[in-house]
Amino acid sequence: MSERTGGCLCGQVRYRLTGEPLVARICWCRDCQHIAGNGTANAIFRSDDIEFSGEVAAFTSTAESGNQVRRRFCPRCGSHLFADNTGRAGFTVVRVGTLDDPSSVTPVANIWSASAPRWACLDPAIDRVERQPTLPPAPTRPG
Ligand SMILES: [Zn+2]
Ligand SMILES: [Zn+2]
Repeated sequence: MSERTGGCLCGQVRYRLTGEPLVARICWCRDCQHIAGNGTANAIFRSDDIEFSGEVAAFTSTAESGNQVRRRFCPRCGSHLFADNTGRAGFTVVRVGTLDDPSSVTPVANIWSASAPRWACLDPAIDRVERQPTLPPAPTRPG
């Protein structure tokens, strides 16, 4: 697949992804549970591969690593769309549920499983990482 599209719940923000994700995972950190009411399904894209239209608001907080995490969301409907981390320059997390076709990416791991609630359904067929995993090496870009 060469292109994916998505947007917020109210449609004010729309985006286009022109590259393939580095990895997709489900995060059960407590911050994600606060913004999503649950784990968040995330796909990591090159920031340069994301184009969006509309207005986004941002909230920045400090992760346990000490990195600053900036979460961007629609100021009208509150949908969380993107997150950047100062420890991961050049890459941006896209919230998979906001894709027009969320099935177009496949999470390969549950991360921060140590803070998942007891009732969470974690697929035993995919990796489970108790806390923050390392990022896989960036794929080389053709050309
Ligand atoms: Zn919206
Ligand atoms: Zn998280």
